[in-house]
Amino acid sequence: MSESFISAREIAAGVRSGEWTARQLVDEHLAAIAAGDGEIHAFLHVDVEGARAAADAVDAQVAAGEDPGPLAGVPVALKDNLTTRGVPTTCSSRILEGWRPPYDATVVARLAAAGAVAVGKTNLDEFAMGSSTENSAFGPTRNPHDTTRVPGGSSGGSAAAVAAGFAPVSLGSDTGGSIRQPAALCGVVGLKPTYGRVSRYGLIAFASSLDQVGPFARTVSDAALVLEVIGGHDPMDATSTTEDQPDYGAHLDDGVDGLRVGVITEMLEMEGVASEVVAQVRAAAEALAGAGAKVTEVSVPAVTYGLSAYYLIAPAEASSNLARFDGVRYGLRVDAPTTHEMMVATRTQGFGAEVKRRIMLGTYALSAGYYDAFYGQAQRVRTLITRDLAAAYEEVDVLLSPTSPTTAFALGDKTGDPLTMYLNDVCTIPSNLSGDPAISVPYGTGSDGLPIGVQVMATALAEVDLFRTARVLEGARP
Ligand code: GLN
Repeated sequence: MSESFISAREIAAGVRSGEWTARQLVDEHLAAIAAGDGEIHAFLHVDVEGARAAADAVDAQVAAGEDPGPLAGVPVALKDNLTTRGVPTTCSSRILEGWRPPYDATVVARLAAAGAVAVGKTNLDEFAMGSSTENSAFGPTRNPHDTTRVPGGSSGGSAAAVAAGFAPVSLGSDTGGSIRQPAALCGVVGLKPTYGRVSRYGLIAFASSLDQVGPFARTVSDAALVLEVIGGHDPMDATSTTEDQPDYGAHLDDGVDGLRVGVITEMLEMEGVASEVVAQVRAAAEALAGAGAKVTEVSVPAVTYGLSAYYLIAPAEASSNLARFDGVRYGLRVDAPTTHEMMVATRTQGFGAEVKRRIMLGTYALSAGYYDAFYGQAQRVRTLITRDLAAAYEEVDVLLSPTSPTTAFALGDKTGDPLTMYLNDVCTIPSNLSGDPAISVPYGTGSDGLPIGVQVMATALAEVDLFRTARVLEGARP
């Protein structure tokens, strides 16, 4: 993996000053995709014509003396659960094959308005359910660092696209870790913003109380730049905050002098967390201490129940959200004599095994007689976790933990056992349940030479603290 890829900030600066054209940059990235994506399979759809037209429009603006915006000419890859007007959007599911949305997601429209150029739609686990991108109906994505390994998931295509140099930045969605875990496994930066920071209008819903859109980038600075563009209130998403965004870029170099950093004890001891990953988290904590942070270990007891609560709440919400795929309104329809049989046949053929498993788990957890014992109990655990994290944030400004328990595992390694797959999410789920922001930064490598990610978490709307901490870690990288 080369460290010499050009950043989004550099591309935009060069395009705005006329040093190079957006068309040149986009053509270079399209060429990289054409040369390398046969092996990686980060993309489900590459929009060559759309990208060239968008780049030409940016160049025309520059030629006319107008400013195309902070992402002028920057190629971006979009997870294929974000709607793109007239461009296929599948969620990696057969059930949406052939569907072309009539509208752009707000984040997609904001990127375009800032001068970014969408190059294509990236692979994911079907409906974002999974941790390896192997649940895609269109075949897995491979990790650019080692093509026998998974890129993580569910936003594996977006993570791999950035790691492979197909685009400097991309968008993913994170319901239980789907931006941060693949970022860790692919050695890139991945941010899950605060719930409500970024509009979900046009993000095809998985679990609505948890879903958030966020960026992948090769640098912390680029991730901040993308958040600046996509974040902020959207009248089309009632859950988006009316709170103004801070100027993230202005605080990138604030450093960590005096910042209170807590390493979460329970997350160093969780099931399956490799000792080499724990070692890198400790090394990262030392690097922060060396830069002036006050580092302590803090206990956040309830996080150990996060996984169990999530795998009731997320499927429950999914079972309801996915009811809309009925053969009537979108994509696939398998004809049958009656409407009911048509719906059954469409859903039977259209959904993959993991999606069906989640729908069944969720429907069960919500059913009369079981609701209180499963869904109700999980919601109470969610409240406990939120409270424990809030208590920790009284003591410290940011929390530190592993992102993923291990480095990238081999393709096929965990497909036979859903529970083993779910264990990937132990460290990332708590901040989805609490709605707080978290970022994964590459920090060191495992004995297999593959990247390890360190997770930095903060209280709601404190992304500025995530970025300044992540910046220091980026600079101190072993
Ligand atoms: N791996 C988790 C799951 O399978 C998280 C998915 C996500 O964040 N979209 O549900």
